[in-house]
Amino acid sequence: MSRGRWVITDGSRWFFDAGADSLDFTAGPDSEVRHWIAERFERVPEAEIGERELADALALRAAIAGVAASVADGEPCQHDDIDTLNLFAATPDVPPVLAGGRRQAGAGRIRVGQALSSLARDAIVNVGGDPERIRRCAAPECRLVFHDESRTGTRRWCSMQRCGNRAKVRAFRGRAESAAG
Ligand SMILES: [Zn+2]
Repeated sequence: MSRGRWVITDGSRWFFDAGADSLDFTAGPDSEVRHWIAERFERVPEAEIGERELADALALRAAIAGVAASVADGEPCQHDDIDTLNLFAATPDVPPVLAGGRRQAGAGRIRVGQALSSLARDAIVNVGGDPERIRRCAAPECRLVFHDESRTGTRRWCSMQRCGNRAKVRAFRGRAESAAG
C-alpha cells in the first residue's frame, strides 16, 4: 500500500500517490532520495545512508523506474533492470512487527539494505506482478507512471487535482468554443 509523496514539478508542489511504495520511491529528484528513505522507513536514520548506500538506492531506483516504464508501455523490460531488482529483493527485507509484545525483537533500527530490499520486493509484486494496472498518466505532457489501486481499475491521472482538472478545464473550453462557434 502506497502512502504517496509530495513532488515539485514546474515550480508547483503537489501530492502524488503512485499506488505502490516502489513507485513513490521513483518520483522526485535524486537529491531527495536520502530524506525519502528515512521518512518512509522511520527506523532508518538518515545519517546512516552513506555514499555507498546512496549509490545502491539510486541504482535500485533507476531499475524500478526502468521496469515500470517498460511495463506501462507494454514493452519487454531490460534484463539489467530485472537483475538489479532480483538482486536487492534476494537480501533480507524489513520484517513486519506486531505491536503489543513484551520483547523488542525487530523494534530496533533497520539497515538501509533492508529498506531497499522491501522496495525491490514491492516493485516485483506491484509492478511486475500486476502489469495491467501499471499505467501512465493520460495527460500527454505528464506521462507519470502509477499503479492503479482503484476498485474499478479506471484511474487515468497521476493526480485528479493536477492533470485531471487540467483536462476537465480543456474539455470545458473546447465545449464552450464549439458552442460559441
Ligand atoms: Zn499527470
